[in-house]
Amino acid sequence: MIESLLFMLILGGACGSILSLASKIFYVYEDPRIAQVEYFLAGANCGGCGFTGCSAAAVAVVDGKAKPTVCVISDMETAANVAEVMGMEVGAAEPLLSKNECSGGTRADDRYTYQGAPSCRAAEALLGGRKVCTIGCLGYGDCVKSCIFDAIHMGPDGFPVADEAKCVGCGACETACPKGIVHVRTMSERLLHFNQEDDALAPCQQTCPAEIDIPKYIAQVRDGDYAGAVNTIRERNPLLLSCGRVCPHPCEDYCRRGIEDEAVSINQLKRFAADYEMHSGERLPIPCAVPTGKKVAVVGGGPAGLSCAYFLRRLGHDVTILDAMPKLGGMIRYGIPEYRLPKEVLQWEIDGILNLGIDYRSNATLGADFTTASLREEGFDAVFLGVGAWNDYTLRAEGEDLNGCYTGIDFLTRFARHQQGDSDEDAIPIGKKCVVIGGGNTAIDCVRTLVRLGAEEVSLVYRRTRKEMPANDVEIEAADHEGVKFHFLAAPVRVIGDENDQVTHFEFQKCELGEPDASGRRRPVPIEGSETLMEIDMLVTAIGQGPDVSFIEKEDAIQNLQTTRWNTIDADPEILQSSVPYIFTAGDSYTGASLVVEAIGGGRRAARAIHMYLSEEELVPVPKSLQKKHIPESLFESVNGVVQKKRAEMPEMDVAERIQSFEEADLVLEESDALAEANRCLGCCRICYNKDKEAA
Ligand SMILES: Cc1cc2nc3c(=O)[nH]c(=O)nc-3n(C[C@H](O)[C@H](O)[C@H](O)COP(=O)(O)OP(=O)(O)OC[C@H]3O[C@@H](n4cnc5c(N)ncnc54)[C@H](O)[C@@H]3O)c2cc1C
Repeated sequence: MIESLLFMLILGGACGSILSLASKIFYVYEDPRIAQVEYFLAGANCGGCGFTGCSAAAVAVVDGKAKPTVCVISDMETAANVAEVMGMEVGAAEPLLSKNECSGGTRADDRYTYQGAPSCRAAEALLGGRKVCTIGCLGYGDCVKSCIFDAIHMGPDGFPVADEAKCVGCGACETACPKGIVHVRTMSERLLHFNQEDDALAPCQQTCPAEIDIPKYIAQVRDGDYAGAVNTIRERNPLLLSCGRVCPHPCEDYCRRGIEDEAVSINQLKRFAADYEMHSGERLPIPCAVPTGKKVAVVGGGPAGLSCAYFLRRLGHDVTILDAMPKLGGMIRYGIPEYRLPKEVLQWEIDGILNLGIDYRSNATLGADFTTASLREEGFDAVFLGVGAWNDYTLRAEGEDLNGCYTGIDFLTRFARHQQGDSDEDAIPIGKKCVVIGGGNTAIDCVRTLVRLGAEEVSLVYRRTRKEMPANDVEIEAADHEGVKFHFLAAPVRVIGDENDQVTHFEFQKCELGEPDASGRRRPVPIEGSETLMEIDMLVTAIGQGPDVSFIEKEDAIQNLQTTRWNTIDADPEILQSSVPYIFTAGDSYTGASLVVEAIGGGRRAARAIHMYLSEEELVPVPKSLQKKHIPESLFESVNGVVQKKRAEMPEMDVAERIQSFEEADLVLEESDALAEANRCLGCCRICYNKDKEAA
């Protein structure tokens, strides 16, 4: 018995010693911080961080493979706790958010009713997924089922809608969607996304130079989600109040509804949403990414500069705008008159952009008050040049510098400065019989301004016919209603003055249209012996304008900044980088005199390139970029089932009343009209479209 006990004791002791030795040999050390980190993580094991559950994420943090912000569903407090365990700085991470890029709906004729398993994946595998269109959402909600955060639900049209407040960006929906319609992106990624060939885009969106998701904001207006509409527009265009008033809306030319009926009044709906925010008394919040510590100088505070500054600031960079004029806005303040874009409205819009934390310096002219070298010395890492096109072309005709003769930009900017109290100069004396030469927006703004300033007779002289006039159609029509006399097919010959060098007559020659020229428009050919004299006492020439790049010759450091023969700044067309690597450009100074919406789109494209430059990434063009090209299958010849319905008429002030003042002439749609107009939108995607409510 005693022997047995002794044997057991010795055996036990030996086993203990072996185990103790084994534990020393095979000991696996687990860093205690793993458990501490895991303790702070959310415990949802959702995999949104890219690791297989919270334990794996904690190991990754301790191994230095993930940041304290690893957990996509926790807040910054969690990140701070994890950072404390690790003895690190918290750092910053932009939240990822899910977005369904197919708005779906009751679709066109190729609608397919799937009878099998209610799953997108099964539908796709069995039938190529042609429920409604080859590329669009299948609508069986695999993404909804995959979301453990209840952040996606089926919207009223039977297609998924992501709830930004609940979405944690775990990416499960993106993985579940067999059609690649659901995307999970950070705010910066969304801001930097440009139209691509494989995006499912309606023809209007493909046409818009600012690449706004037009069907989406119209659907938001239709659903009464006006704030949502504002956010959708602002994701691409920070000047929605201005564009809603002056954009010639090239998108409407491609509106699919216009094939069978009348194009949707897209721009009026933009104005409706924009005005809604301004009148709501509250600005919608605009998030910005965390600061990068990089500084950019934006020279020129017109639409291109404002757009570039806005996107750069939202991407986390420090931005300062420098402008030669006393106030920001460029041509939309000093060229476009008050009755089309009230200065108060413009200022509200500009304030919203500056409120993001953008500095500005007015009365600061590049080449006179500062140079690009001085900006570099101040610590700016990159420079954006958006100096516009402010040099008026001249007629090169005898007598055009007589007293009483002005150029268009000079006339409009001097008047605007005087009207705003920006200058001590006397007001320009207005003649009784005024003639304006030209057919573009500037010419029309000059005639309509002269009418309001009390000129007795205002004429517009243009070399071609009304059809070839580059000005916006509605503006030409408005000028006509306001009593402007149009003289088409009339080419200027000379200007005649009296002994005091005061203009008295204008001579023109009648023309007929010949063969098309390089612009595609038929060339005006003067008719010999048709010279005609017009009695006048004021003449404004508004025949076009180009950039003033005289600042280049004033600075040695930028002698190699290349320009084109039109004096525009030469740059790579995709990334808008000039021949000086830290200088980028867009807007009129790059394209020549163009449109607000072009300048806005260009400003964002330049911001993308500057962001890459500052991040020391290779500057590459947008992959598969679809800039104003059309995907052939999106261009239909007919659209079935549209119930004819007139488009909303733009409300405007009565002619007799509006020519008495500079009060805004074009008014905003009533809410009921905006809702009816939004309902006219077919909600097109690349090949599908929603039918009319009535037709459905
Ligand atoms: C009379 C008129 C009417 C128009 N109407 C319409 C319309 O109805 N719809 C439409 O879409 N477009 C219209 N346009 C065109 C539109 O205004 C321009 O395409 C747009 O403003 C271009 O924006 P931008 O930022 O490139 O240039 P700009 O708006 O010209 O801004 C350039 C800025 O650079 C500043 N600047 C210039 N040189 C310097 C320097 N050396 N140093 C510092 N700052 C400098 C200027 O002060 C200005 O603020 C109109 C243009 C004019 C002239």
